[in-house]
Amino acid sequence: MNIPVVAIVGRPNVGKSTLFNRLVGGRAAIVDNRPGVTRDRKHALAEWTGHPFTLVDTGGYLPGSDDKIERAVVRQIQEAIHEADLIVFLVDAKTGLTEFDRELSVELKKSGRPVLLTVNKVDSDARELNALEFFELGFGDPMPVSAESGRNVGDFLDKVIELLPATAAITTDNPNGKLISLAIVGRPNVGKSSLVNALLGEEKVIVTDIPGTTRDAIDSKFKYYSEEFLIVDTAGLRRKSKVRDAVEYYSTLRSLESIKRCDVTILMVDAMVGMETQDMRILGEAVRMNKGVIITVNKWDLVEKDSNTARAHELQIRETLKNNDYLPIVFISALTKQRIYKVVEIARAVAEERKRTLKTSELNDYLAEATSRYAPPSMDQREVKIKYCTQVKSNPPVIAFFTNAPDSIKPHYRAYLEKQFRQRFGFLGVPLTMVFRKK
Ligand code: GDP
Ligand code: GDP
Repeated sequence: MNIPVVAIVGRPNVGKSTLFNRLVGGRAAIVDNRPGVTRDRKHALAEWTGHPFTLVDTGGYLPGSDDKIERAVVRQIQEAIHEADLIVFLVDAKTGLTEFDRELSVELKKSGRPVLLTVNKVDSDARELNALEFFELGFGDPMPVSAESGRNVGDFLDKVIELLPATAAITTDNPNGKLISLAIVGRPNVGKSSLVNALLGEEKVIVTDIPGTTRDAIDSKFKYYSEEFLIVDTAGLRRKSKVRDAVEYYSTLRSLESIKRCDVTILMVDAMVGMETQDMRILGEAVRMNKGVIITVNKWDLVEKDSNTARAHELQIRETLKNNDYLPIVFISALTKQRIYKVVEIARAVAEERKRTLKTSELNDYLAEATSRYAPPSMDQREVKIKYCTQVKSNPPVIAFFTNAPDSIKPHYRAYLEKQFRQRFGFLGVPLTMVFRKK
């Protein structure tokens, strides 16, 4: 996998879980419960300044005698060392340097892995002094943080990214030139391989090996009405046996890699199951990377239908989408090939929308209209005005709004503006970045 792994290690109670939760934010952790893994470890995708990484909390220790705990911690560290590109060695400024920290540091040095010594619970300037004693562990200057309050966590993350093997920041530009590239993602068994095989058909396959990607990520091209499309990472999809035993966690990482390299993400869900938490998580990542997104509801052939069924399903999905309800939803059957080319056509439309650049005059005429219908609420008796806007970038689109009080534009007002702009200008299936700047 291309996404580097950062493991947090340290004795119990230094604040590993607290730090983990702060870094992954709202994103739920994926618990790794593969057989053979000694105990549950939490993994989650995190990101800083556009650099994604997987965070591992070696957290939970086995309850028992102190001796047992210590052995368990050492074992966790050995497991973490195995897979980590960087080890965050967490210690506690409140308790100060302990004998066990010294023992752990010997283990960590033996590993030869890069270690970022981080002193937690540095909640105030005064505590910074306590952090200094950890210098003697021999990992250089300790990095003071407070996981609880977030103090210095930004600096800490800068350091983490600096120490990781260089990974490309998430590129928002199309890495594949003029082809429209598609990532087909979704839970195991939703029908991804079936769709890919239906679209490619044996004879149309041109295998391309894109340098710099996961070794076995093979992209395939297909043609539809003289236009070429690329399906990202078809290796994992066409060779069935490889995906079958992949735990969800790895398929999630793999999906993320694919999404990173596409223009349009096709999220497949099973008509009989509907949208699940995991689907929302993947969808959230695609939106965050500003990719075009289409939702396809597969196995439509299995659903007993009357004239209202599609509508009812769509409403149900839109409800779960909340702010992302601008995404197109298509009901397909990879088995009977019903509407599979409709997906391709919509993907092309979404890719086009993503490349659009709107004229500033057009945008501003509409801005005036939208703000006169509903002006931004004033803040502290001060009138908030949005003076003008302009599209600063396309593919993916970014619109900048200039205002006297950027901080006073609240989420509900942003949502209002976005909705208005979408009604007027479309941007079907395309996340819109709206930035508010001081003028
Ligand atoms: P773990 O066993 O290493 O995962 O530690 P936890 O995350 O469960 O934290 C242990 C205790 O330390 C909890 O009571 C936390 O609230 C507390 N704690 C964590 N981070 C901080 C911090 O930055 N400052 C202070 N004062 N307490 C913290
Ligand atoms: P993947 O794990 O997402 O790649 O899913 P597969 O393409 O391997 O499909 C899983 C199972 O669902 C297979 O038995 C397929 O034949 C079946 N399947 C896929 N698409 C459809 C569909 O549209 N309708 C029906 N009835 N079954 C389908």
